[in-house]
Amino acid sequence: MDSSLKPVLKRQAIFVGASLGAGLLLTYYFGFLVGMTANIAIFMAAMFFIRWRQQKALRSFGFGSQTTGRGYEGEGVKIKYVCLSCGAEVKGSRCACGSKMRRPLF
Ligand SMILES: [Zn+2]
Repeated sequence: MDSSLKPVLKRQAIFVGASLGAGLLLTYYFGFLVGMTANIAIFMAAMFFIRWRQQKALRSFGFGSQTTGRGYEGEGVKIKYVCLSCGAEVKGSRCACGSKMRRPLF
């Protein structure tokens, strides 16, 4: 996983460096204000691009929010609770007898 991520990080570093270089060139040719505005815009675009690439990479490794969310939901539905004072199955946040003491039933 480490060795497969390294070339991506190197490419990202080159990308950021290139965008900063392009910003400096724009500053040189078009003056400070236009150059700075373009520089910030390019830098923001680079940041968004990197964020997007990392999300895509994480998803391909199986760490996507969709898969983890679905897994957690599936486990949550299975758990049942039993009241500690009367022993009945608790369906809401508290039992019909009024007790909040409950234990999960697996
Ligand atoms: Zn009860």
